[in-house]
Order: sequence, then C-alpha cells, then structure tokens
Amino acid sequence: MPAMSDEEIPRNILLTTVDAVYNWGRRGSTWPVMFGLACCAIEMIAAACARYDIARFGMELFRPSPRQADLLLVNGTITQKMAPQVLRIYNQMAEPKYVIAMGSCAISGGMFTSYAVLQGIDEIIPVDVYVPGCPPRPEALVYGFMKLHEKIMKQSIKTVPWFAKEPALRPAPQPQPASE
Ligand code: SF4
Repeated sequence: MPAMSDEEIPRNILLTTVDAVYNWGRRGSTWPVMFGLACCAIEMIAAACARYDIARFGMELFRPSPRQADLLLVNGTITQKMAPQVLRIYNQMAEPKYVIAMGSCAISGGMFTSYAVLQGIDEIIPVDVYVPGCPPRPEALVYGFMKLHEKIMKQSIKTVPWFAKEPALRPAPQPQPASE
C-alpha cells in the first residue's frame, strides 16, 4: 500500500473513542418492544407512523419479543394486576435496556389514585426518561427519544450498569394492601 502524503492523512484517518463508537451504534438502533397498556399507546403508534417517522432514528422496528428489544415504552395505566407482566417483559429484555415512562399514568398513576393502580412504574423498574402529559403528543415522545439518545451518548462502558455484578432480575412486585 503506498504511503499517504501529509495532506492526505487528515482526510483519511479518524480518531475517536470506543465509547463514542459504541454509544453511536446503540443510539441509532434502539428497538422498542411492541407493547401497549392504554390510551398513551395510541400516541406511540402515531409516533411510529409516516408523519413523525421514527425510522429516521433507526427506531421503527417494534419487536414482538422483548428478547429482541432494548427499549420499553411504558404507555398507560399500570394496574396492580398488570405490574408483574410489565416487570416480566422488562426482565426478559437483554441488556443494555432502557425505559421511557410515557404519560401521567406511567409516571405517577395519573388520575387513578387507587389501591388497584401502581403509582408510577419507577416503583418496580428504573426509568431513564419521563414524558409527561395525558396523553403526551407524538412530538413529546419524539423529544423523549432525543433525550434518551443524549443519555446514551454520555454513557461509558467503564460505568454502565449492565456490567455490574448485582442480580439482573428484579423481584416481582407484591400486591399492595388497600389503604384505609
Ligand atoms: S396518561 Fe392519560 S392518555 Fe395516557 S394512559 Fe393515562 S389516562 Fe390514558
């Protein structure tokens, strides 16, 4: 191979970090689970359609199996009966995985201040981005995706949680006793 001249070197050699390449790759291929809980799921579906076109983020592949997905969109009311199923889906997803709590119900139980409804998905699984609203519009969800991408780009493989030694599976939530 002929040696490069001094002028050609800046045009042909790119220096970067492992973190930057790794994060760039993950950011551009975040695949959500095909999963909906309530009315907020309709806004998630709208975000995936042509008008908002999340394919431009490499995110249009909604996977029917959690084992092939790395983004869980919690998009609706989480009843105590449904909470273990949401947790099971989260546990089945491969690391690295991310969670967006979409809408008031997923963030805090919303208007359902009831013993039958979980008062926020962060009671059972860690949340990366909260998108408020009832329901949040697709633009808000797209903004949430962009905040998640910012978060991914700031991660380092030296400190990411999925290399930690703590148990990967979270215990199933127990039904809460009815309040007085
Ligand atoms: S936040 Fe509003 S739109 Fe979303 S699931 Fe709850 S009630 Fe439905």
